Amino acid sequence: VIEIRDLHKAYGDLEVLKGVSMTAPRGHVTSLIGSSGSGKSTLLRCANLLEDSQRGEILFEGEPISWKGEGLHRRPSDPKQVMRIRTNLSMVFQQFNLWAHLTVLENVMEAPVTVLGRDRKEVEEKARMYLDKVGIGDKCDVYPAQMSGGQQQRAAIARALCMEPRALLFDEPTSALDPELEQEVIKVIKALAEEGRTMIIVTHDMRMASDISDHVIFLHQGLIEEEGHPSDLFGAPKSERLKQFLSATV
Ligand code: ATP
Ligand code: MG
Repeated sequence: VIEIRDLHKAYGDLEVLKGVSMTAPRGHVTSLIGSSGSGKSTLLRCANLLEDSQRGEILFEGEPISWKGEGLHRRPSDPKQVMRIRTNLSMVFQQFNLWAHLTVLENVMEAPVTVLGRDRKEVEEKARMYLDKVGIGDKCDVYPAQMSGGQQQRAAIARALCMEPRALLFDEPTSALDPELEQEVIKVIKALAEEGRTMIIVTHDMRMASDISDHVIFLHQGLIEEEGHPSDLFGAPKSERLKQFLSATV
């Protein structure tokens, strides 16, 4: 469970999050939609503590982040807590950021071995299992540059899974892909959703959002404008801004 309460975030004078509250329950898929610049990526990065926020609370499995300082000087105060939370919230980015000089298998094994200090042999077994799961078990020994974009993104998902996180955060995992490769990745994400993993997905793909989400949140200029079950949100949007957004994206 990830809970965010009244979160505020600014870059200098630019207020990006203006008091966002949301809960991503365990085993649910929560999608974040909204126009470019509405603050979706920022919200995800704040949740993962990759970015500082100035006000509001973030709780992971009921445990609140402890802070020191205030406003622009506010930082998490406990490095061990930050580490624990980051390793439990794996993030998959739009650009897959695989290490070019490591094979696919080595990419997937890297963090569990070096960050978590897990046993290499055990990690290798898991890594092969997750690569199989995302359908590229035969690509263990190739380098990222030798794979298609969809395969690279699936490798990035396997890498996130190999950390065995409690929750997965996806920031537009399919938007760098052409439609065919996109479908490959959506299939993998769907399968993960069906396993009941806690996931937050930022996406421009309304079809995917309505297909796999338990809950959809529409962000507008740093505030939640409307949220709800996908059938209500897409089927009967209430806010004019959401209606506008949906008619512009279809
Ligand atoms: P997109 O759909 O285009 O990815 P988004 O909803 O993810 O958009 P964010 O990336 O969260 O939007 O950006 C929200 C606002 O914050 C934008 O106005 C952006 O210019 C600004 N912003 C994002 N990152 C930074 C940064 N590192 N420094 C300064 N401003 C930033
Ligand atoms: Mg973004």
